[in-house]
Amino acid sequence: MQDLSLRYIKGIGSKLANTLAKLEIYSGKDLLYYFPLRYQDRRYITPIKEIKEGVHFLVKGKVMARNVRGVKRFLFGRKLFEAVVSDGSGFLNCVWFNQPYLRDYINVGDELFLYGKATLFKGSIQFISPEYEKFSSVDSFNFGRIVGFYRLVEGITQRRMRKIIFEGLKKFSSQLLDPLPFYIREERKIPNIREALENIHYPSTFQDANLARERFIFEELFFSQIMVYLRKARRVLTKGIPFKVDKDFIEEIRRRFDFSLTSSQEEALVQILEDMKKPYPMHRLLQGDVGSGKTAVAIFAIGVCVHSGYQAAVMVPTEILAFQHHQALQSILAPLGFRVDILVSSLSKKMREKIITSLKEGKTEIVVGTHSLLDENVEFKNLGLVVIDEQHKFGVAQRALLPKKGKNPDCLIMSATPIPRSLALSIYGDLDLSLIKELPPNRCQPQTIVVDQENREWVYSFIKDKLKEGRQAYIIYPVIEESRLQDIHSLNQMYERLKKVFTQFRVEVFHGQMSKKRRLEIAEDFRKNRINILVATTVVEVGINIENATVMVVENPERFGLSQLHQLRGRIRRSTYQPYFIVIGSENMGENARKRIEVIKETSDGFKIAEEDLKLRGPGDFFGHLQWGFPHLKVANPLEDLDNLRWARKLAYQVVKNDPHLRKPYHRCIKEHLDFWIGK
Ligand code: ADP
Ligand code: MG
Repeated sequence: MQDLSLRYIKGIGSKLANTLAKLEIYSGKDLLYYFPLRYQDRRYITPIKEIKEGVHFLVKGKVMARNVRGVKRFLFGRKLFEAVVSDGSGFLNCVWFNQPYLRDYINVGDELFLYGKATLFKGSIQFISPEYEKFSSVDSFNFGRIVGFYRLVEGITQRRMRKIIFEGLKKFSSQLLDPLPFYIREERKIPNIREALENIHYPSTFQDANLARERFIFEELFFSQIMVYLRKARRVLTKGIPFKVDKDFIEEIRRRFDFSLTSSQEEALVQILEDMKKPYPMHRLLQGDVGSGKTAVAIFAIGVCVHSGYQAAVMVPTEILAFQHHQALQSILAPLGFRVDILVSSLSKKMREKIITSLKEGKTEIVVGTHSLLDENVEFKNLGLVVIDEQHKFGVAQRALLPKKGKNPDCLIMSATPIPRSLALSIYGDLDLSLIKELPPNRCQPQTIVVDQENREWVYSFIKDKLKEGRQAYIIYPVIEESRLQDIHSLNQMYERLKKVFTQFRVEVFHGQMSKKRRLEIAEDFRKNRINILVATTVVEVGINIENATVMVVENPERFGLSQLHQLRGRIRRSTYQPYFIVIGSENMGENARKRIEVIKETSDGFKIAEEDLKLRGPGDFFGHLQWGFPHLKVANPLEDLDNLRWARKLAYQVVKNDPHLRKPYHRCIKEHLDFWIGK
């Protein structure tokens, strides 16, 4: 590794180094890769007489007079420094507050650059606290050019940043190894690292700045893809379990379902079974909209695993979901002779211990559980397949733990967050991807109705009608932090009010702060249609599967994200009855909330919704939420830079294919930069 330490850079002492650390700048290379967020065009000098009020101008002029005085009118008698500047076309008055040291810097006769917003004061134009610099410093980073603006913290100014990056470039740019090999730069016609760094920080034209930025966008995507393929290459060399897929057995499972798989489900199943046959571990993401039937597909994979004599583990984020999956697995696979157990924290200690022993001895072939599965004392005899449902509810580290309880088991990861394919490929790292594109047949499109507060009565009578027809309803109340008593309190108030509205029905409240036992009881009663209305928080968002519940009312929709609304609506798309999704708007709805509701009303296509979500929230938020893949992308936005992404994929694939260990001399640069990049 090159030693590009910050301490070699002129002007950086330990104090500044500490400040830079807050910006995650620890090395000279970090500094050079700290790109401006935006630019300002300060190339053109405006004659003073052409200055107009309310606009920013750059002026170059000579100081004609100066003065320091106190101003009583202002708080605490602030000091004011005044200077009158002329460029021959006119005079400009400049004032600075509380910078008395200017007295020692600005003298009559000095030539100054001044950049500020013109304001009118007592009939004449003036600059208040403009940025300034003496013209004598020829190599200005701040004036007479396009200047970059950086994200900063207290303790460093834009000027200082521009200066030290300049010093850093001077010091290191000739030593810096270009992370992109020459042949790739040739192929993509992109500037070399030195030119690109100079142009991204100190561009002469906006075109240069764009070209430089393009290079770094490509570079980021290229390295993200190098990582994808390296991980993949490593995995292919890992010894896994080549499962045997017995056609007759598959048919036996098939017969146990009271529906046949959609062609989309079939396609995904074929891909999964192909993977399972391979001698290296499967690492596949099964993506499909809420209600598309991912579980059914997973049941086949689990069947194949246990039929080959291995154990399978299914991890889900909530107990209710665990019970639901347990039931589904039980009904299909138990009759075929397999033991399905459940492991959640609400079980009695004795029961837990029994299951843990049974798992260790290999008597339990299939286990469904929550985070409990990750407990240290949970061991398997021969874990062959790990299924993780609703993967976004788990952290990256958690997901990695379960497979470690076996010897390179196959992994099937399920997600209802639909992401455009190309994007998924780049952010899900080395996962292979299967998509379920269609919902099971005969599903009704949900009707989405947006109403105002005034229509509340109508909503209640609508619910009553549906309940009389035998259906059930959810009323969803936003409780952002279940641990906040205040939020739970208002949920309970709502519940009390609703009980009075729906006197002839059974209404129950349901939230994460209730005891697990109570929650499971209620879920069971709701499933059996002994409860008509569930007043709930978003705990129902994940997985609850009640076919008879076809009405959902959402209160305070502005407090829900787009994909959350979509997930919620997915709960009532489970049967052949017409579902109704009713959003009660409130006065607090801002622009963004209105847009979200508009999107929800317009479409129920999960992919479209995900794209809109990405647009509304921006990739940072969106990816952060997904907790997967590459948080290091700083300039690239895979959604917008699709073309670059395609190229990056193609070239990275070639690199790893031809030189999987990056040993070729012309790939040394990739290897070196990779360490820097991963370290981010
Ligand atoms: P997901 O996990 O993808 O949201 P599920 O696997 O829970 O969806 O399936 C939702 C519902 O659809 C379940 O009740 C399931 O039994 C049913 N289902 C799944 N596949 C089919 C199919 N091919 N035809 C009819 N119903 C199906
Ligand atoms: Mg599911």
